[in-house]
Amino acid sequence: MLTNSIRLFRVRGIEVGIHYSWLVIFLFVTWSLSVSYFPDTVPGRPDTEYWLLGAIASLLLFVSVLLHELAHSFVAKARGLDARSITLFIFGGVSNLGGEARQPSTEFLVAIVGPLTSFVIAAAAYVVAQVSNEPRIEATADYLALINAALGIFNLIPGFPLDGGRVLRSIIWEVTGNMQRATDLAANVGKLVAYGFLAWGFIEILDKDYLDGAWIAVIGWFLHSAASSTLSQMVLDTRLKRIRVGDVMRADTTVVSPDLSVEQLIDDVLLPGNRRAVPVALQDRLVGMVTVSDLVRVPVAQRVTTRVGDVMGGRKGVVTVGPTDTVAFAVELMGEDDLEQLPVVQGERLVGILARADVMRQLQLRERLDPNPGGS
Ligand SMILES: [Zn+2]
Repeated sequence: MLTNSIRLFRVRGIEVGIHYSWLVIFLFVTWSLSVSYFPDTVPGRPDTEYWLLGAIASLLLFVSVLLHELAHSFVAKARGLDARSITLFIFGGVSNLGGEARQPSTEFLVAIVGPLTSFVIAAAAYVVAQVSNEPRIEATADYLALINAALGIFNLIPGFPLDGGRVLRSIIWEVTGNMQRATDLAANVGKLVAYGFLAWGFIEILDKDYLDGAWIAVIGWFLHSAASSTLSQMVLDTRLKRIRVGDVMRADTTVVSPDLSVEQLIDDVLLPGNRRAVPVALQDRLVGMVTVSDLVRVPVAQRVTTRVGDVMGGRKGVVTVGPTDTVAFAVELMGEDDLEQLPVVQGERLVGILARADVMRQLQLRERLDPNPGGS
């Protein structure tokens, strides 16, 4: 889930939230519908009714965007990816899928189903508008048909990270067999599309159409930054995939017993060893991981009586990595459970600790010494 968002509800294990910026667009859409669209299409009604219609239409727009994102998530789940959350924000929605598609066909299906859903909603709304005899329902349905068709078309623009860019990437990936090259190309097309939007926005502004111009330019700016961050993310991923856990871990095999008191742990293990975390083992079996964050929750007066086993993390199962795993994989695991470090295990034996801070240090080193990890 993105930060600065409000959690709303869960659908089939997928957490749905809205980013604060979404409230801005909600108010903006409601306002513009209430003062211009509805008065123009359904004249002669009281203002309160226009505001009510505006709010209903905005909510239905919200539902439309949500259905578009849910379609992405459901297909991702059906294809074995992990769909965790959906955040609706100012330009639409972001589905947070666990990990990237491993096959081009998966990426293609997950991406294309979103715009298709928008087109289906547009078609349904169009039918409602045609058969309805009630002018207010007709006006609302017409608006939804138009906005969903626009959403579908906008998202099909072939620039990464828009759905169309993902479709393009999956096709290049399928044809060339090289996902990196496909990402590179699709993200660069995404940048081109972004420049197109920026130029269009400026032309509109020169034409004195300030609001539309600013709006289009902001979309361009957003697309550009998303495409750029995709590219730098790819460079980062490439680096992380090249480094093995064993290369970066600290070969520290200190463990403590779950029966140790928190005070002893702090005074005898963490402070003297300059450690932020230490694995907890019971007769050579790893049972948890205790970190500074776990300890600060214990009031100082209770440090003597509290046992490590009562506050340690990982009681439901310790997350570990092997020394030959890639750092990319380890970082993904850390991200999933919001961990700062992982015990490194070979067979059953603890061989070291991998800390996020060490990974960052290694990345900074490589950034200076090996500026072009792609080798191209
Ligand atoms: Zn989409």
